[in-house]
Amino acid sequence: MQHLSDPIISLNGLGPKAQERLNAIGIYALEHFLFHLPNRYQDKTKFTTLSTAQVGSEILIELTIDRIEEVATRQRQLLCYLSDDNNRTLLLRFFHFNQHQKQQLTRGELIQCFGEVKIGRDGLEIHHPEYRLISKGQPTLIEKTLSPVYPLTGGIHQPQIKKWINIALETLQKSDLFDYFENLSKNSMPTLKQALHTLHHPKIDDNIDQIANFRHISQQRLIIEELCAQKLSLLMLKNERKQAISNIFNISKVLPDQLSANLGFKLTAAQQRCVDEINTDLSLDHPMLRLLQGDVGSGKTIVAVFACLQAAENGFQAAIMAPTEILANQHYHGFRDYLEPLGIQIAFLTGSQNAQQRSEQLALIISGSAQVVIGTHALFQKSVQFNKLGLVIIDEQHKFGVHQRLSLAQKAHNTPHQLVMTATPIPRSLTMSAYADLDSSIIDELPPGRSPIQTIALANNKKDKVLDKIRQVCKENNQVYWVCTLIEESEVLRAQAATTTHLYLEENLPDLNVVLIHGKMNKQEKNDIMLRFSTGDINVLVATTVIEVGVNVPNASLMVIENSERLGLAQLHQLRGRVGRGSDASICILMYQPPLSSNAIERLDILRQTNDGFKIANKDLELRGPGEILGTQQTGIADMKIANIVRDGYLLKQVNYYAEQLLQNDEKNQQALINRWITHDKSQYANT
Ligand code: ADP
Ligand code: MG
Repeated sequence: MQHLSDPIISLNGLGPKAQERLNAIGIYALEHFLFHLPNRYQDKTKFTTLSTAQVGSEILIELTIDRIEEVATRQRQLLCYLSDDNNRTLLLRFFHFNQHQKQQLTRGELIQCFGEVKIGRDGLEIHHPEYRLISKGQPTLIEKTLSPVYPLTGGIHQPQIKKWINIALETLQKSDLFDYFENLSKNSMPTLKQALHTLHHPKIDDNIDQIANFRHISQQRLIIEELCAQKLSLLMLKNERKQAISNIFNISKVLPDQLSANLGFKLTAAQQRCVDEINTDLSLDHPMLRLLQGDVGSGKTIVAVFACLQAAENGFQAAIMAPTEILANQHYHGFRDYLEPLGIQIAFLTGSQNAQQRSEQLALIISGSAQVVIGTHALFQKSVQFNKLGLVIIDEQHKFGVHQRLSLAQKAHNTPHQLVMTATPIPRSLTMSAYADLDSSIIDELPPGRSPIQTIALANNKKDKVLDKIRQVCKENNQVYWVCTLIEESEVLRAQAATTTHLYLEENLPDLNVVLIHGKMNKQEKNDIMLRFSTGDINVLVATTVIEVGVNVPNASLMVIENSERLGLAQLHQLRGRVGRGSDASICILMYQPPLSSNAIERLDILRQTNDGFKIANKDLELRGPGEILGTQQTGIADMKIANIVRDGYLLKQVNYYAEQLLQNDEKNQQALINRWITHDKSQYANT
């Protein structure tokens, strides 16, 4: 008798080749077959008639064989003509066949066949149907439940995987599969056994549409379990990190006091709390991995600067990485203003530097004379050698994948402390699941003296009003962003669209300096334009979304966003955050193309009602799911078997609830649950 824990090689007819192929998709033990779920189903529960057969759909039908014919076209074919009692006909066409098969198909005999109906020259056809000759003693094709069709991996065929999965399901019938949720869910969900049976072999009255949309309770049951397993594994990573060794920083007050004296403003209570939380981490001998969240304009940069001071005081280098050249540049200038008066030297590294600039900067980094290093992705390259890297800070982390994060961390002997800053507030339920391995600090208040941004929605045909507003704002010596958000497939098309808008604005605002910036420009051009905008030389900056993150020009007080209905809330909020950074009252005009969908109306309304990024993020999670918030880069959550954190975001509250319960369980159970769902180390199944 088989056990669910048996390695798959123990199955009859499953050899080393197949084993290797199945291992590659995470199937090592019989139990793992259970979690290889169908991607669709076939209905073989009843016969159809030819009069109701639809071209393109799969049918099960029982007909009489009229005639067999072998034709020699370019390729030999076997044709088998069938008919029903009303002389409706169906042709079975075989491109591959053997003589035995041909002899079995005899005239007058009843045949059951299943396959996709096609339309041929002489009417309906099925190519290579699955078929049975009942009079020859073959078992019927009729099934009690819907038939699963499994996703395949190269070299494995549908009948094979079906057979193996059925063995696993039979074994499941006779064994115990530890069900961590049965007690927890108090019968509000199907048991694991029930859920698996339903998904492999749904009954005809099960809601297949729900299954197709991953909304069936049996799927939800599994999704919650898988996300819990993911979360527990992230928490274990966190535990491991808290055991690992890093450099202890002795927290000093000398440089911080000097910086505070120079600042010209006082940290908000929230900023101070975050600085303290970071300092506590830095003073421990375990690597910090902390997420610093704060709404746009909440002042994350200065918190990062204080962390750099601790590295410098302790003789370590700090690396700050920004997602774009513009932002890296801005940080470079900002950090220089703060740090140079304190005698701290800064190196700067980006992709657009020439060979000489680059080697100068690299020399500063390797010698250790640069205590703070600022740059873009360029910091990741192999050629970059740090002298004594102790702290890594990543700004606007959504633009960075988890691998890049790790590759920088690997540049140091002891794991460096890491601070990850994000301007997109992340709803708590998401932080607790997708980012469960990180600690989290939140700046939940804005610096004083900001006047709130007034947000207005205007239809596209009100452009005249917008032009008037621009003239007025510029007359008061403030500046304007005009954001073109056309979602074209290519940066070239986006640039073209922005160019058209630019011409239109130049024509209609002849007294103003209107300048275009877009992603197709080279880095030097972009930097120059941003510099001119920040010095006030440019009145109106027409931009594609390149300005989305982080840009800080306090004198800009009007933002116009075209086609705002096409963007997500988080992105609009980010864009809007480019204004309202100074003391002048700021306005954000959301232009839209009517008519608006009800969902779009709701989104624009939220933006008009609140400036609170956390409220907006929660609404975004509700309206669009976490994809918008997490960005296209995955968070570090590995490939999952059934769950998809973007699609299944609505279940995160339950996930966090159950994960809490599971954490009360003993560690062995937690590990077993992780092993069931996450197949990182399967050496236990090797060579058996
Ligand atoms: P973000 O969190 O979006 O990265 P920044 O760090 O760029 O925000 O800060 C936005 C602006 O607020 C900067 O001009 C910064 O100097 C200013 N600022 C930061 N903290 C304070 C504070 N406590 N009081 C006054 N102004 C502050
Ligand atoms: Mg910032």
